[in-house]
Amino acid sequence: MSVLASFQRRLEGKVALITGGASGIGESTARLFCKHGAKVVVADMQDELGRSVCADISPTEASFIHCDVTDEDNVSHAVDHTITKYGKLDIMFNNAGINHMLKPNILNISKEEFLQVLNVNLVGVFLGTKHAARAMIAARQGSIINTASGVSQCVLPEFHAYVSSKYAVVGLTRNTAAELGRFGIRVNCVSPGGVATRMTEGLGGLGKQEFEAMMSSLGYLKNVKLKAEDIADAVLYLGSDESKYVTGHNLVVDGGLSFGRACVE
Ligand code: NAD
Repeated sequence: MSVLASFQRRLEGKVALITGGASGIGESTARLFCKHGAKVVVADMQDELGRSVCADISPTEASFIHCDVTDEDNVSHAVDHTITKYGKLDIMFNNAGINHMLKPNILNISKEEFLQVLNVNLVGVFLGTKHAARAMIAARQGSIINTASGVSQCVLPEFHAYVSSKYAVVGLTRNTAAELGRFGIRVNCVSPGGVATRMTEGLGGLGKQEFEAMMSSLGYLKNVKLKAEDIADAVLYLGSDESKYVTGHNLVVDGGLSFGRACVE
């Protein structure tokens, strides 16, 4: 294969499982991974959307499985399905996540709402890591990538549950990287800045364009609009062999929004 062709197919022969792959960052990553030669299983709760994304990518290179990441049997089954369908699991992208609406202060968030966010954003990553590790330890290799957030580097008082869950994802990433390295398994996370996706729809009453304009005005890279595809590029790097000596890292892709100051002052 020529150097150019190998650069264009950076995941040739690899198999990936992507949670939350029916929409937004997960969907963009599934599309990019397949373009780079990977076979992809999309695991999501949105069955119709997930199936149509996979059919659009490729009926043979992408496959959908229903999965609620808070349900251990579902997650375990998604890992087993990936191995049955494509023979192995090289890359686990624990990406499914939710947020609650803006809460003016801590008195406005109920215990149930707090736990619901932690359950998807943190417990979901824990279960995905646990069951991917089961398969990857046997294979003595693998790359696990978790979606944290730029808010894991700063404060955002209207989102106590979300921010807590994303700080915890960074902690879990580092802890599991330390444990799993001896099996040849790398564990990293990616921390996106604000991307206009279904999750951010209606936040602060802003439309898609307004949201993108607001986010780019807050970061240091003025006039650059962050897209789901830009996060997929970062995930591609962490999933590929180009990052073979990178583990326990939090790759922040937020235009500098989260360093040097609080997100909201
Ligand atoms: P999105 O809503 O477009 O995609 C999230 C996907 O997760 C959806 O397809 C949804 O069905 C799925 N999902 C939700 N709960 C699930 C569950 N219990 N089991 C399985 N799937 C479930 O949003 P997105 O912006 O693409 O979010 C992807 C990840 O990126 C999330 O972890 C989110 O916290 C993180 N993130 C997003 C932003 C942003 O600005 N959009 C910023 C930082 C981090």
